[in-house]
Amino acid sequence: MITKFIKRILRRDPMVKHAHASNTSAPKRIPKKSHRIDPHLLSKNAVKVTHTLQQAGYEAFIVGGAVRDLALGISPKDFDVATNATPDQVQRLFRKARLIGRRFQIVHVTFFGKGHPEIIEVSTFRALLDNAGDHVAESGRILRDNVWGSQGEDAARRDFTINAMYYDPSSETVLDYHGGMADMQKKTLRMIGDPAKRYREDPVRMLRAVRFAAKTGFELDSATREPIAKLGQLLNDVPSARLFDEILKLLMSGYSWRAIQGLKEAGLHHGLLPLLDHILDEGEDSKGANDFVKLALANTDERIQSGKSVSAGFLFATLLWPDLLRNWKANSSKGMTNIPALHDAMDDTIATQSSGMTIQRRFESDMREIWSMQPRFERRVGRYPFRLIESPRFRAGYDFMLLRCATGELNPAIGQWWADFIAADPAGQDELMASAKNESGNTASPVKRRRRRKTKSVAPPEGAAS
Ligand code: ATP
Ligand code: MG
Repeated sequence: MITKFIKRILRRDPMVKHAHASNTSAPKRIPKKSHRIDPHLLSKNAVKVTHTLQQAGYEAFIVGGAVRDLALGISPKDFDVATNATPDQVQRLFRKARLIGRRFQIVHVTFFGKGHPEIIEVSTFRALLDNAGDHVAESGRILRDNVWGSQGEDAARRDFTINAMYYDPSSETVLDYHGGMADMQKKTLRMIGDPAKRYREDPVRMLRAVRFAAKTGFELDSATREPIAKLGQLLNDVPSARLFDEILKLLMSGYSWRAIQGLKEAGLHHGLLPLLDHILDEGEDSKGANDFVKLALANTDERIQSGKSVSAGFLFATLLWPDLLRNWKANSSKGMTNIPALHDAMDDTIATQSSGMTIQRRFESDMREIWSMQPRFERRVGRYPFRLIESPRFRAGYDFMLLRCATGELNPAIGQWWADFIAADPAGQDELMASAKNESGNTASPVKRRRRRKTKSVAPPEGAAS
């Protein structure tokens, strides 16, 4: 009886192993002629890193988003390398290598060349959660996971099949553990493993799903999409700083408008940015706000797609502008004078936002600067324009003002005046100053007009909206 039982256990054991091994079974090897990755799109430094590691006897591959982008024919914005060398072993091989992170210990290898330094992120294959000990919170969220594993395990713990491919630059072969290449052809975004379990482990994966769908134009596989409706509220437990990072990536993906629509469709927008709660309503009330945010996002997407930089402070200043305008108007109608009304509205807007997702301080100060500059664009008398143009963040404030002109919230003639003013020589600037005076179109004496401007020179937001 007992021997029978033992035999049964023994027989069962290989099955358990097999079930587990199916997670980490042999990858499909995809040769050059099938994946068509263009080696010219590779970062020379990333190739240097894999090569150095391989020369030292380790396995090393370009991995993750870079392989996904390469397979799509897009030039990746950064390169990650995965290896079986430990962080210490990696660090010893490179001159400029720094160990970073506590939760995931990785190595940053920095290369200095022309232009910006390039950082190649090198991570050691990680073990599967089941094999990595008990590091899971009650909700299923991963708390700590610095346990090394095999490449197969490393692949199984990545998020989407298209993000779990490994490219070896030496042989130009892709190792594909989860059918990423096939999903790529089907234009499908598929979570590896049981999607609900994977979202519980790390709710941020829901936001990543929306971001990658927007960026690639792929559809979420139905099993990957379905659990999101129920699990979306798990994002409340994610530390604010991590949410902020992910939302920033989403907004800077080059497809921000599409991504925001995706958040709405997935029901994930509540509580992230208060403005998202109403900005996506099609109602008449939010039309002006919608137009402004849409234009700002289109502008951001265009800049990013053409390789230009975008400042996060500027971006959040645009996203919260409709809220700010509303608060500003409310303050003005309560009888507050214009500038205090604006500053009070800025505090309110930021406080409301912080109840959802806190915007980092350094961006907050950029936002405040951009906002508080806005009324100053309407003060085209005396020394004001000359002083404004000298402020260190003038360019951001100016670009912001042009967006307001483009949606008609601010008189476009003011935007044109500033464009001319920036380009003009001193004589031209004097002429423009004179024309601004005449533009006000009344016959009041300069003295009288100046006095009037001192108290009411800045159009209240109502005026600005006309
Ligand atoms: P991009 O850099 O273009 O935004 P990416 O896919 O490279 O996209 P990263 O955040 O740089 O995204 O992550 C690199 C890789 O690490 C991913 O491709 C994925 O394989 C893995 N990864 C990142 N975050 C997670 C996560 N939350 N859960 C599981 N795997 C992840
Ligand atoms: Mg990346």
